[in-house]
Amino acid sequence: MRTRLKRMVCERARQRCEYCLTPLGRFALSFEIDHVIASSHGGKTIGSNLALACFLCNHYKGTNVAAIDPKTGKATLLFHPRKQRWSRHFVWRNLTLKGTSSVGRTTVAVLRMNDPAHLLRRQILRSDGGFPPLVIKRELLRIEQRPE
Ligand SMILES: [Zn+2]
Repeated sequence: MRTRLKRMVCERARQRCEYCLTPLGRFALSFEIDHVIASSHGGKTIGSNLALACFLCNHYKGTNVAAIDPKTGKATLLFHPRKQRWSRHFVWRNLTLKGTSSVGRTTVAVLRMNDPAHLLRRQILRSDGGFPPLVIKRELLRIEQRPE
């Protein structure tokens, strides 16, 4: 992949994982350029099919494009960062990420977005005042603060 394309994807994502919103440099984690629709499913290496993802999200997403919604049992497409708004599908419940739609629930489950490693990162970010993230791409995130 061309360096210019990688740089564009990182800048467009504002240096955050486009699934779990973890900031790029904070944990010296490896971030990867995700093919939203995997190459094995015909997804192209073009800006409209690329997203910035942390290692954990990208690892669990793998080549998946759909899975079973844990609530309804129906086949559901995963979240598409280029076509869908994050705040319409996810909400924070303290350190936990909750899917508010079929797409959100399915993505949280497949990408294991509440695994202990994710929770630990969020705990560290919160102690520094960097969690929950307040603004992304000109939209305010819906934040529900509930007692733990
Ligand atoms: Zn992530």
